[in-house]
Amino acid sequence: MSLSADAAADISHLRPGCFKLFDSHCHLDLPDLAAGHALHWQQAQAVGVAELLIPAVEQAAWQNLLEMHALQPAWHIALGIHPWWAEKHDLTHIALLDQQLKLHTAAVCAIGEIGLDFALPEATFDKQQQLFDAQIAVAKYYAKPLILHHRKSQPQLLAALKPHQFSKGGILHAFSGSQQQAKKFLDLGFKLGIGGTITYDRAEKTRNTVKMLPLDSFVLETDAPAMPLAGFQGTINTPAQLARVFSVFCQLRTEPALQIAEQLWQNTQQVLKLSA
Ligand SMILES: [Zn+2]
Repeated sequence: MSLSADAAADISHLRPGCFKLFDSHCHLDLPDLAAGHALHWQQAQAVGVAELLIPAVEQAAWQNLLEMHALQPAWHIALGIHPWWAEKHDLTHIALLDQQLKLHTAAVCAIGEIGLDFALPEATFDKQQQLFDAQIAVAKYYAKPLILHHRKSQPQLLAALKPHQFSKGGILHAFSGSQQQAKKFLDLGFKLGIGGTITYDRAEKTRNTVKMLPLDSFVLETDAPAMPLAGFQGTINTPAQLARVFSVFCQLRTEPALQIAEQLWQNTQQVLKLSA
């Protein structure tokens, strides 16, 4: 089925049943969403979200995520330590991560959310680097992709990956930036996580990157409960908002919406190694 370019800009005529969306970054376990997660999931499914990935932020979250995945297999999980929580952790937690991966290799589809955040105080940088480096090693050992967090740290992420000769790829979550920045990650087998940023007119550079790069460069995400879309500032973001991210994504592309949905679905399945 093909749609005209004009039709591709508006997905309101598409019934959710005829395409599937994957929210590749949704913190469904965090307090703002956890209490209502059954309702959030129902609302997300009603607009076409068929699967999502919940990345962990700290060791204390891992057991709950394993239980959530066991109850609902469409909720994929990543285990790891987010740089904002680095100060609470040390290398003993990396040994625990290794243990969890050994026990639950099939249930854990990625290591994340991990990375470097240089907008945090400088006193945290050493610990952040140490934990990031150790988690890349765990991911490499278990052949798992990475869910990468970055803030003022894209070159340092690349520098940290290099000595590991890391080849399992992953998702550069909350991508913003130019085609040149994007290509360095694409060359390493990463996809760019595109979320609510593109709903803001001021995000010209990122919107242009979405227009220009091949469709196999991208996956979609909400980063719920964070990152509210334009027009929704001050409210809690939810996985159902992925339909709006998809709609804006389609407006930036020339391909028909159904083709875009199919390719984004495949991109996510492939990078998270969920498809056979
Ligand atoms: Zn996140």
